[in-house]
Amino acid sequence: MPAIAYLECSRCHARLRADVPQTLCTACIDQPAGALYVRYDLNPLAGTSPLDVVGARQGEPWSGMWRYHAVLPDAIPVTLGEGWTPMLRSRRYANLFLKEEGANPTGSFKARGLALAVTMARHYGLKKLAIPSAGNAAGALAAYATASGIEAHIFMPRDVPLANIVEATAYGAKVTLVDGVISDCARIVGERKQAEGWFDVSTLKEPFRVEGKKTMGYELVEQLGWEYPDAVFYPTGGGVGLIGMWKAFDELEQLGWVKPGRRPRMYAIQSTGCAPVVRAFNEGAAVSQMWTSPQTAASGLRVPKAYGDYIILDALRASGGKAVAVSDEETFASLKDWAAEEGVFLSPEGAAAMAAYARLIASGELKPSDRIVVFNTGSGLKYTEVIADALGLSAAERR
Ligand SMILES: [Zn+2]
Repeated sequence: MPAIAYLECSRCHARLRADVPQTLCTACIDQPAGALYVRYDLNPLAGTSPLDVVGARQGEPWSGMWRYHAVLPDAIPVTLGEGWTPMLRSRRYANLFLKEEGANPTGSFKARGLALAVTMARHYGLKKLAIPSAGNAAGALAAYATASGIEAHIFMPRDVPLANIVEATAYGAKVTLVDGVISDCARIVGERKQAEGWFDVSTLKEPFRVEGKKTMGYELVEQLGWEYPDAVFYPTGGGVGLIGMWKAFDELEQLGWVKPGRRPRMYAIQSTGCAPVVRAFNEGAAVSQMWTSPQTAASGLRVPKAYGDYIILDALRASGGKAVAVSDEETFASLKDWAAEEGVFLSPEGAAAMAAYARLIASGELKPSDRIVVFNTGSGLKYTEVIADALGLSAAERR
């Protein structure tokens, strides 16, 4: 595992030291301040074969996402077995692959970012972490905090799936339900963190959740034989996974582990009831505007403004991809279709991404020969209330 060389601002490119906990860029003149990227000296690894570098270290329990220890910070992992999730080929579309992030501990992709954020929190000696969450990040933080002996303070909208409240409570986190959306939760964390001594692990307000999520980019490339797919479909709330994968592609090319110049087109999928990135993309804007009254049953997509919207929009445009909004009706039709036809119980967010794939295949915008990876960011089992509604199960049928 390499030492971190420095942290780099994603806006002004200032370099910050990494031997103390950092939040956002302290050098940015324009606000909001830029999110920070973790940078290493990758030169010693350049030109190596990933086959010699990637994988479990002898005598170390560093499997799962920690197989990429060569490009992760030098710290003892707090792990519950996250990462190296299945890449499933569709039964019906020969070139469609489902990246099944529901197989992670706590049932969602949030495990990757929070495993690394908590690993580094323990490394720095932090004792109390706080998070605003649309649901799944709460469960993940609660689990990893418990596994590392750190306190977790969680703020979630009252209407998150019951599973998120139950798991966070079971893990022993301090859970507060808020009448509002995730940005209201973020405001409360921001107002109270100083007095309470909390370190804020909000999306992109510390550098290590992106760093954990970048392992999705390494994994999808390794699982496709160290080649890029033609496109990646990613359900986008905060968009950290998309940002992390884009960073992974930079690193993979720097390392010489994949050929540059053929990056996948990145597709950000949102709900028609909360589509700030889609609106900004279509308007040619560099940043998104706050979406008023977000409404979608895909709770992970109820993010009215992503902190890293400027990075997401850049990546979509640089890759030749786009942002797509799908309705809840399309989402749940896709969810039912994948359960009944493929034996895969998608989360509503994953189903939204799959609905976008189906739409673009039907319209001819995507060719059946295009090799596409669609992310299912969580297990459908965490969303049984909204899925029961979508299936039309009566009260009697639910018990
Ligand atoms: Zn900056």
